[in-house]
Amino acid sequence: MSNPGMKLSDRIAKIKGATLVKSFCYSCPWNCPTEVYVRDNKVVYVKGNEDAPNNIGTRCSKGMASWWMTQDPDRLKYPMLRTNAKGQPGEFKRISWDEAFTFIADKLKSIAEKHGPEAVALTCHHDPNTQFYRHLLGDLYGSPNMYTHTSGCEMDRRSACLTLFGHPFPMHDFVNSKYVILWGMNMLGANQGLFESRALLEAKKRGAKIIVVDPAFTETAQKADEWIPINPGTDGAMALAMCQHIIAEGLHDKEFVKKYCEGFDGFKDHLKDKGYTPEWAADKCGVDADTIKRLARGFATTKPAMSAIFKGSGYYTNGNDAGRACYILDAICGQVDGPGNLHLKDWAPVGMPLDIPEEAKRKPEKEPLHAAMGYPIAPDLPNAQLPKAVIEGDPYPVKALFVQSTNPVMSDPDRDKMLEMFKHLELAVACEVLMSETALECDIVLPETSFYEMAEVRQGLWLGAEAIICQPAIEPVGESKPPYDIAKGIAQKMGWGEHFAFEHWEDWAKTATADLPGGLEQLKERGFWSQPPKFNKLADCLGTKTGKIEIYSHAYADSGFNPYPDYTERSVIPDDDYPLQVTHSKLSMHCNIVTQNNPLLMEICPENWVEINASDAAKYSIEDDQMVVIESPKDNITIRAKVVQGLVPGAVSIRHGHGFGHWAMGSVAKGKGAHSNNLMEIHTNPVTGANCYNECKVRVRPA
Ligand code: SF4
Repeated sequence: MSNPGMKLSDRIAKIKGATLVKSFCYSCPWNCPTEVYVRDNKVVYVKGNEDAPNNIGTRCSKGMASWWMTQDPDRLKYPMLRTNAKGQPGEFKRISWDEAFTFIADKLKSIAEKHGPEAVALTCHHDPNTQFYRHLLGDLYGSPNMYTHTSGCEMDRRSACLTLFGHPFPMHDFVNSKYVILWGMNMLGANQGLFESRALLEAKKRGAKIIVVDPAFTETAQKADEWIPINPGTDGAMALAMCQHIIAEGLHDKEFVKKYCEGFDGFKDHLKDKGYTPEWAADKCGVDADTIKRLARGFATTKPAMSAIFKGSGYYTNGNDAGRACYILDAICGQVDGPGNLHLKDWAPVGMPLDIPEEAKRKPEKEPLHAAMGYPIAPDLPNAQLPKAVIEGDPYPVKALFVQSTNPVMSDPDRDKMLEMFKHLELAVACEVLMSETALECDIVLPETSFYEMAEVRQGLWLGAEAIICQPAIEPVGESKPPYDIAKGIAQKMGWGEHFAFEHWEDWAKTATADLPGGLEQLKERGFWSQPPKFNKLADCLGTKTGKIEIYSHAYADSGFNPYPDYTERSVIPDDDYPLQVTHSKLSMHCNIVTQNNPLLMEICPENWVEINASDAAKYSIEDDQMVVIESPKDNITIRAKVVQGLVPGAVSIRHGHGFGHWAMGSVAKGKGAHSNNLMEIHTNPVTGANCYNECKVRVRPA
């Protein structure tokens, strides 16, 4: 008989005859705390951790379907060495881990001797476990080039937050907000961060006004009070004009500005000198001046409010200043870090899992690539510039690349250039779960465990401080290994084994959680540790040079850039030959490369598509659901068209998710949908180094 007082999770475990492992989901980067139910080394059920504040027992469809990866027959199972020449799709033979580690260590030693350790770069996903690779290749080997994939993600937002607030990660206290402006931020469509999506809908239920500024009538716009269809790449113009109007009307928060902001008076003059008025912005943005003024007034006079960005205002060569302008709106109206505002994330006391002594570290002799490339304040590597370093040795030669859980051949602009780059590398190593397009170009492919088979301790993406844990729920698939074991294996061959002395994951996890209340044991038991959000902590948490919100950015000024945000036209403007502007949007069922080989998700969403406005569709004889050819000056693709009313005329919106049209990845993913990234030439944001995916013009015709 069931016990009515029993927790739901215990009841499920009993009914399933399963063991419950508290863990987190990694089908997208939001890492919802998750319960994994395991029987006979098989995942038999998953659900959200109902005690965790982020997702209170729920998971999205991607999370629910993610158990598939534990049984996916296409998983990489053994280390593999390339057997054919570069420049053609890789053919591989199975080798042992010992052979793989020896091969990599020998190459690393010879590259360090010939070119110096700076000739090695790592590009990975942004995870604590990649710290093990950083210890190996950065601290011990001596490369300064330890990077992640941010230039293909939220680089402009990250940069705006760092330069204005000195903080790397803003979150959003939607639930307490009364007025929210989302600039190109389609959180409900991207279906990530359940906590934030739920909070936005809850805010609306409580009467908050939600404004979505976006060229497309996205899933989020459909739930908003108002959709402002803005011309692509002009968010910065509208945000600057709103700032100008707010200041001209004296609606800014004078007390907050005086106490916390640097450079307000200069900014006011800058707006005036440049003539950034609503009338000036109207034509550029396709939004009339009265609407801009009304929104400016509404935003400045409603408290608490929030102006938020993610990726949509980026993806253009003017995206850095667009992001800054959107956040300056928050700053001048005193809408930062209070309840209902942009929230500067609180951090949990999670430390480093390994401690490499200073004397063992090798100091690089060259500056990191991003600085040497001319992007001194970029928060990460301008990925699209990496081929130049590899192929031309500019700014200095890169001879080896480690790629972990990221797929630049698929997800960076100009696939041809990325493919060319791999031909020039002396060593290319992929650490992956599935054979990716990038892994196919590598010399050696190492199978990593999935998040169901490994451990990780990390910051949770909850407003308040939160630590979360991933615990191995089942045995590794095949001979796959977690990042710690891979880094350790290479380190031993390099003669640095003493620095990777832990035998079991719990040993390094204990070090990482040494300062966490309750320590590792409680974290394992509950799956998370959290504290309520801390508000109004600006005096303590602004990490800028002046300790203030830098409307006048010293980071920009010190690096020779304009300290105040300006509006410049985007780089690629449609013309008679290519009359349509490309924009991008994500897919709710897919995220990066971890979902496209999942038959459950592919049954719901088996391909990507392009959206085109009905008036443009009529002009180019395109019918709904028809296959069309999209041509840019660089390449063409064939893709399904959806004819919609909700998109500004003159733009097309390609749903991508960085991963349709695979030619390497598993049998389910292969050949489905269209890969759009080769339509693009390389355009890199001149300050942040972000990939400018939307700097692309095209024409469309029926296939
Ligand atoms: S939002 Fe992301 S982390 Fe959460 S369940 Fe969905 S895929 Fe997993």
